Amino acid sequence: MENINWKEFGFGYTKTDYNVRCQFRDGKWGQLEISSSDQINVHIAATGLHYGQQAFEGMKAFRGPDGKVRIFRLDENGKRLQNSCNGIMMAKMSLELFEEAILKAVKLNARWIPPYESGASLYIRPVLFGNGAQVGVNPASEYTFAVFVMPVGPYFKEGFKPTDYVVYREYDRAAPQGTGTFKVGGNYAASLQAGTRAHNEGYSAVLFLDAKEKKYIDECGPANFFGIKDNTYVTPKSESILPSITNKSLCQIAEDLGMAVERRRVAVEELADFKEAGACGTAAVISPIRKIVDADHQKEYVYGDEAGKVSLKLYETLRGIQYGTIEDKHNWNTIVEL
Ligand SMILES: *Cc1c(COP(=O)(O)O)cnc(C)c1O
Repeated sequence: MENINWKEFGFGYTKTDYNVRCQFRDGKWGQLEISSSDQINVHIAATGLHYGQQAFEGMKAFRGPDGKVRIFRLDENGKRLQNSCNGIMMAKMSLELFEEAILKAVKLNARWIPPYESGASLYIRPVLFGNGAQVGVNPASEYTFAVFVMPVGPYFKEGFKPTDYVVYREYDRAAPQGTGTFKVGGNYAASLQAGTRAHNEGYSAVLFLDAKEKKYIDECGPANFFGIKDNTYVTPKSESILPSITNKSLCQIAEDLGMAVERRRVAVEELADFKEAGACGTAAVISPIRKIVDADHQKEYVYGDEAGKVSLKLYETLRGIQYGTIEDKHNWNTIVEL
C-alpha cells in the first residue's frame, strides 16, 4: 500500500478487499460470510427493491498517532439500525452480531485504514434490506445484511471553511410521524430533487423546514443542524429528523465545555439570533455555515466567511477523541484489535 495518496479518496466508491454479509432466513440470522465480490444477489421480487424495505448506517474507523484503530460509537450505530429495522418492520440483528460483522470487515481490510498523518479515515457502510420475494405489500420474511468499508479522504481539503445553505418551502424530506427518524434510503430519494437544485444554484445543501407548518428548522438532508448563541448549543427537536450520533456527541462535548444545550423547536426567524451555525454528521463532523438564504421570505442569515470559535472548538474536540489525541472520557471508541 505504498504510494497511496490517501487524501485523494472521495465519497464515491473505492473497492477494498473484503466485505461481510449475513442472511436472515427461517426466522433467524445465519453465519457471517466473507466475500471479495462487491456484487450482491437480490431477488427480483425483493421488498428492498420494490417497497423500500431498506436501512443503512454510516460510521468511521480512525488510526491514531499511537497506531491504535478506533471505531467511533459503534454501539450507537447498532442501536440506531435496530430502531430503523423496527420502524419499517425488518428483521433486526443483535448488537453483538452487528458489532462482530463490523469488526470483521474492518480487520479484514486493515491495510485500507489510512495512516494518522493523512487526515483520512475508513468509512464503514452497513446496509440491511428485505430480500425475500413478496409482491403483496407485506414485510419480507428474508433479509440481507452487508457491510463494506472504504477509505475516505479528509473532508476539509482547503481547511474548515463555511459554505452556503438554502431554505426551500416547496420540498419536504420526511413527514412528521413518517420515516424521518429512521435511516432509510427512501428519505434520501425524497431529498434528491431539492438537493440537486441547491447544488445547481450554488448551495452546498438544503435546510429543510418541518413539513407540517414550515415554521421550524428540521435538518440539512444528511446532517443535523445546530446554532450557537449566548454560550448555548441549540439544535432542533422534531418528529421528522434523524437522530445524528455526531449531534448527540457534540451536545455532550458542549456540556463538558461548560455550555448550555437546548434541544427544542427552532423557528426559522431564530436563525437571525445565532452567532454561528453548522451542519453535523459522520462525513464532516461539522460543516460550518456561511449563510442561509431564505429566498421565499427575501431573507439572508449571515454567519461569516470564517468558522466560528465555538464550532472550531467542538470540531477539534470531537476529532481529537476520534483519533485518540483527546481523552475519550465517555467511552465512545471501540478499539480494534488488529
Ligand atoms: C446519517 C444521517 C445524519 C447524521 O448522523 P450521524 O450519526 O451523525 O452520522 C443526519 N441526518 C440524516 C437524515 C442521516 O441519515
